[in-house]
Amino acid sequence: MKNLNIRNFSIIAHIDHGKSTLADRIIDLTGSIDKREMTDQVLDTMDLEQERGITIKAQAVRLNYISNEAEEIQLNLIDTPGHVDFNYEVSRSLAACEGVVLLVDATQGIQAQTLANVYLALDNNLEIIPVINKVDLPSANTESVISELNQYFGFKSDEIYLVSAKTGEGVLELIEGLIKKIPPPTFPNDENLKGLIFDSIYDPYKGVIIYVKLISGLVKKGQKLKFIKSKITADVLETGFFSPDLQDSDSLNSGEVGFIATGLKNLKGIDVGDTVTLEGQSTSALPGYKPINPVVFTGLYPTDGDDYPALRDALEKLKLNDSALIFEPESSTALGFGFRCGFLGLLHMEIIEERLEREFEINLIATAPSVKYKIIKKSGEELFVDNPSYLPESRLIDKIIEPWVELSIITPDKYIGNIMELVTSRRGKQKNLQYLQEQRFNQDDKSFTARVLISYEIPLSEILVDFHDRIKSASQGFASMDYEIMDGRESEMVKLDILVNHESVDALSMITHRNSSLQKGNLLVNKLKNLIPRQMFQVPIQAAISGRIIARTNVKALRKNVTAKCYGGDITRKRKLLEQQKAGKKRRMKMVGSVEVPQEAFMAVLNLNEPKKN
Ligand code: GDP
Ligand code: MG
Repeated sequence: MKNLNIRNFSIIAHIDHGKSTLADRIIDLTGSIDKREMTDQVLDTMDLEQERGITIKAQAVRLNYISNEAEEIQLNLIDTPGHVDFNYEVSRSLAACEGVVLLVDATQGIQAQTLANVYLALDNNLEIIPVINKVDLPSANTESVISELNQYFGFKSDEIYLVSAKTGEGVLELIEGLIKKIPPPTFPNDENLKGLIFDSIYDPYKGVIIYVKLISGLVKKGQKLKFIKSKITADVLETGFFSPDLQDSDSLNSGEVGFIATGLKNLKGIDVGDTVTLEGQSTSALPGYKPINPVVFTGLYPTDGDDYPALRDALEKLKLNDSALIFEPESSTALGFGFRCGFLGLLHMEIIEERLEREFEINLIATAPSVKYKIIKKSGEELFVDNPSYLPESRLIDKIIEPWVELSIITPDKYIGNIMELVTSRRGKQKNLQYLQEQRFNQDDKSFTARVLISYEIPLSEILVDFHDRIKSASQGFASMDYEIMDGRESEMVKLDILVNHESVDALSMITHRNSSLQKGNLLVNKLKNLIPRQMFQVPIQAAISGRIIARTNVKALRKNVTAKCYGGDITRKRKLLEQQKAGKKRRMKMVGSVEVPQEAFMAVLNLNEPKKN
């Protein structure tokens, strides 16, 4: 295929604005997937994505399209995730593209991730095609969304496409339009192979399969591949493209997006962002990607200690497919050997845990997530701590610096008060407020309203848990949020230790702000009391700061035999009790000293904020 006839583009949007559905319609209209194999959101290929209805991985697909001018065009479409935790997927995809289709939901307007994604596209110098989706809905506010796109980004109304990804209305015009507006990949004057690795995956038979965008040259089966930065060499076992499953082809050519199977079984040194060429050819490395910094850390431990090597293997393989994941070995007195893992957010963490359990069948215990603190000791020594149990004793600490973020919230202006109250309760401060549109009269509540973009500064640890839900309930579902890490700030943080049966359990300790430590300590011991099953003896649960007990409660001792009291009684009740006991055994437990602690206990620290008001 001539480069001139190739278009590489991504679909970007806030979550739920219809990216995956639009991809479905484009696939239908190009007849690229057999009708019998077509499902809703067909590019959400992981079970997990289909079940949750969200896109986690960017997914590429090659489509062949005959344009109105009867030209054969190869479209490489990449569907991207919309959630802030998976932004790295979007930024990597964009490096394989010349343009983007920017979707905005006609009932929602510009949302926080719309902005974040547009900035990413601008950073990559991509052609942006603005599209308003869901125009079929009666609640569509198409005119007002047009004026937002105009006012905020400067798009003129005649360059905005109006479509329904559901009915297909307007989608053909969009395809024709993007072929005209998005430039074909440029063609460097170079015969040498040069390909950017934008993703990879491990296959038990074909080894490491790298996903590449070829900038120049040609690659085919039988050749020898060289990774420029890591200097690894490998055979080309197979080349091909995404259909969306892997479809082999004779070769991959400059400008194309596809895969190369390498047969490599050793995963060391395979890095997304590296450049591949052929052995014997000389070419320079592409700039690659910005290194990514995880923001949330947790310990992952196999419930069965024998699974430790399997967990390491699983993490290495998963990292191939999720380069934002980082991990290193750690050990805990309570939990044994495991890994400290870093994630881009709580959803990312949840997804990785679930993938480890599903794809690799390893049962895990995860410890409470923490952000990374910078500690300056009185001795002048500096260190970073992302595991509360490694926090030095408070008498040795001069300063603790915690990460802060710049938080952007887009909301109808009538919810500003509610949101402000929530943000302030989490130590946040307002920085800026900007109207996205002119105020207009709203018939429903007979008042003037408009949507605003507000930015705040707030500690990262305060927005990790349940904050998004709170924002949604404070705005009746209308507000959206996005955040970006900024500098760290000195804070009065303390370590809260938890003692179970007088033994400090390292995996349950947490770092918290001094002002809320008493409240959190109390909440936590009471939650643990309900989570830790009764033992044959009374188990005291205590919270302590620097050795001083600040909260205490007891798990009462168990009666010897729970069925004894049913002796001679109703047999069905007895059976039910025994079944309950059996099911109880199946819960994930870890022995901590002489006490069985369930997985939920380690997660109890997650939700220690003041209870919801409504
Ligand atoms: P994504 O998160 O951007 O990939 O969004 P999805 O494609 O998963 O769509 C989110 C929801 O919006 C799904 O329930 C879709 O069926 C629905 N949807 C997407 N496009 C349209 C549309 O044009 N009209 C209507 N009525 N619903 C749509
Ligand atoms: Mg999607």
